Amino acid sequence: MKAKPISLAAVRLNDRLWQNRFRLIKDQVVPYQWDALNDRIPGVPPSHSIENFRIAAGESTGEFFGRVFQDSDVAKWLEAVSYVLAAEPDPELEKIADEVIDLIAKAQQDDGYLNTYFTVAEPDRRWTNLRDWHELYCAGHMMEAAVAYYEATGKRKLLEVMCRFADHIDRTFGHKPDQMRGYPGHPEIELALVRLYNATGNERYLELSKYFIDERGQEPHWYEIEQEKRGAGPRPYLPDLGPAYSQAHLPIREQQTAEGHAVRALYLFSGVTDVATETNDNELLDVCKRLWENVTHQRMYITGAVGSDHYGERFSLDYDLPNDRAYTETCASIALVFWAHRMLHTDIDAEYADVLERALYNGVLSGISLDGKSFFYVNPLEVWPEACKVRDDLRHVKTVRQGWFSCACCPPNVARLIASLGQYMYSHSADTAYIHLYAANEANLDLGGRKLRLAQETDYPWQETVSVTVQPDQAGEFTIALRIPGWCKKTHLAVNGKPADLASITAKGYAYVSRMWEPGDEIQLTLAMPIQRIRANPQVRENAGRVALQRGPIVYCLEEVDNGANLSSMILPPSAELTAQWQPELLSGVMVIKGKAQRIDESTWENTLYCPVEVPPGTRTVEITAIPYSTWCNRLPGEMLVWIRET
Ligand code: ZN
Repeated sequence: MKAKPISLAAVRLNDRLWQNRFRLIKDQVVPYQWDALNDRIPGVPPSHSIENFRIAAGESTGEFFGRVFQDSDVAKWLEAVSYVLAAEPDPELEKIADEVIDLIAKAQQDDGYLNTYFTVAEPDRRWTNLRDWHELYCAGHMMEAAVAYYEATGKRKLLEVMCRFADHIDRTFGHKPDQMRGYPGHPEIELALVRLYNATGNERYLELSKYFIDERGQEPHWYEIEQEKRGAGPRPYLPDLGPAYSQAHLPIREQQTAEGHAVRALYLFSGVTDVATETNDNELLDVCKRLWENVTHQRMYITGAVGSDHYGERFSLDYDLPNDRAYTETCASIALVFWAHRMLHTDIDAEYADVLERALYNGVLSGISLDGKSFFYVNPLEVWPEACKVRDDLRHVKTVRQGWFSCACCPPNVARLIASLGQYMYSHSADTAYIHLYAANEANLDLGGRKLRLAQETDYPWQETVSVTVQPDQAGEFTIALRIPGWCKKTHLAVNGKPADLASITAKGYAYVSRMWEPGDEIQLTLAMPIQRIRANPQVRENAGRVALQRGPIVYCLEEVDNGANLSSMILPPSAELTAQWQPELLSGVMVIKGKAQRIDESTWENTLYCPVEVPPGTRTVEITAIPYSTWCNRLPGEMLVWIRET
């Protein structure tokens, strides 16, 4: 089954959880990041991003400051602003964005080139180190911003700027004698070029994306060729990881497993999926499926986080999913959402939407605080704050969210995803409307010319019921396909009160309801949400003898503020009775899990470090409270634990 994504403008969210997060993005994160980009926030590392553009545009003097990919922060901010404007017009914000776009246009060079680092700091070294210097990555982010801004406002200025830059890149790279054979060290432009192609219809952009994908990893290896040309120049970052660090160890069609830097990998796989889809390349699609299987069945955390090794911020090996040392960058979960959305449009299969949902409600949402003011870069599943201050292998773990980062990729990435969430909820084809995610919203879909309005009422993910009011422009026969989440073992579906036989209408995790729909028809869906105890595959050595708690799509954790310190001494026997309790005042309104557990009585140990097993460990019964993982560290800092000992 194939379907097309919808535009963001088609959906209006009025959901408790998502509307709350959207308000944070619009009222808190976007203005805060604007101040950060302009170095107006005391106590956080300066960004200098806007000033870099001013200098490149000739409006200011001084030196470039920041990372070589500093421009991408402006791009991601602009992209988030575009989605905010698509959801809710705001002339003042649009005016600021227009001014930023004027500045970007002025910073563009006559030949179309656009990158403030190389324009201001090292004009002679353009395109001399694709492996490390992120020019194509920054270009990709700005292309995404340009398409998003055009779609939100109809304004073409940035789109035209980025088409000029894409034309420049198209002239520069390729197989002709006067071209370079290179490709980016940090993928991103591959998926961005496909967006640019879809927005403009210019097939050269699709071809260019395909070129970057197919050229990657070919011999002789471009990174070595350019290294030789540079002479002494910079050596590879993390040389022992080799080109696998940036997925260039093999041509993509020969890659069997997801390797290297997790964000790079998932941006690349997203672009590969786009090109496979747009060019009907089934061989390439099989590569995507193979890599998807590896990532989601062997290398993904229960929270939808990926990247288990901080060294290289990368995938390590199958089933290596340490909870405390995890790297699990927020951006990697976001990239997994991007990729899952694309895979879902190669084949409507709930497996893809399940992963999308898992990452969204857990690994992505944990990246931003409930006041929208601070962010996690790394999202471990177990934290002992004192150890993180001392141990070298935990140095990357911040135990409280940070205001901003010198490498500020995650905060604007969270902003752009949450602000554009509406487009992930539905898809459409000529005769079918697909509902992938559940949240209170109204959507206007187009089924082969038929106008269809769907209104969801629900308090998902906390409550089990979803009601969908169906309003076609006139009565007619078509299909509404509703996702039955993989976590849900008991589903009830009815239309106008009449139960449907789910077994006969469900395929690949979607219930296809085909009938003559009348305006005002109502679908009632109940997705039973008992508290589930989840075990990990025994190959995941870290989680042997442990369980995690999940309810609906939400993964839970224990936090020190509710349960005391040394959470490892908490035991959750299989017989433990657990109940879900709605707490409207806690953590912006969450369902918590309460119950009785056992706790090893530490007082009997006194000064003993080791003790023979003949002495049974004393335990006592304690009350436990588990909260949604994504909301941890919004009260007092302290320990946190997802996987709890079972015996
Ligand atoms: Zn990041």
